[in-house]
Parts: sequence; C-alpha cells; structure tokens
Amino acid sequence: MAAMDDCLFCRIVAGDVPGEIVHTTERTVAFRDINGQAPLHVLVVPRDHYANAAELATGDPETSAELVRSAHAVAAADGYDDYRLVFNTGAGAGQRVFHTHLHVIAGRELSWPPG
Ligand code: 5GP
Ligand code: ZN
Repeated sequence: MAAMDDCLFCRIVAGDVPGEIVHTTERTVAFRDINGQAPLHVLVVPRDHYANAAELATGDPETSAELVRSAHAVAAADGYDDYRLVFNTGAGAGQRVFHTHLHVIAGRELSWPPG
C-alpha cells in the first residue's frame, strides 16, 4: 500500500517529518511519542499505511505480528519486563492518527481499568 501524503506517520516513516526513532525492522518503525505519558512511550507503526490494527491484521498479518515483536524489543532494550501495549481504534476510543500504531508504555505504575 502506498504512503499517503497527508498522513503524519507515513511522513515520519519516510523521513519527511522528524521523529525520534528508536527501533526499525524491514516492516516496522518505532519512535517516541511526542507527548509521552510514561518514562517509556513509543509508537510502533507499519511502514505501509493501514488505518487501524484490524485492517493491518487482515491485510498484512506478518507485519501485525512484527509490531508486537518490535514493541517487546523496544521495552526489553530499556530493561522493562512489564509494559502495556495499546491500539486505540476509532475516534471514540481515542484514536487521533489514522495510521495504525501500537503504543508501548512502561516505567511507571499502570492502573487498570484504563481511563
Ligand atoms: P492515538 O491517540 O491516535 O492513539 O495516538 C496518537 C499519538 O501520536 C499520541 O499519543 C500523540 O502524542 C502522538 N503524536 C501526535 N503527533 C505526533 C508527532 O508529530 N510526532 C510524534 N512522535 N508523535 C505524535
Ligand atoms: Zn500513513
């Protein structure tokens, strides 16, 4: 799937918008959230554009799995065994950027249920 010119995360993947990239694979790019909510808050995205996690899982299941492997590698690199992974899906669930991204959050007490 082609990159979308008006998509912020496609532009970060392409290097047109700066991002603090912490991990890459052939299929994924991980960069720090600009408004981090914990000592570790990284977004892992597919290089290709998919609007949400379900579309990615259907369209490219191997990359969907790679997001989780990348997220684990990002947490492990900073020494975190415990972390939270979040896919906000849809505006009503807090999704603001419609290029799927896996939030990796760690380094503080994480309460449940989430807000
Ligand atoms: P969502 O609310 O869609 O699940 O998450 C979008 C995330 O992208 C938010 O946590 C927000 O802080 C982050 N974000 C928005 N704009 C930028 C940006 O330009 N650069 C980076 N690195 N993160 C961004
Ligand atoms: Zn995109």
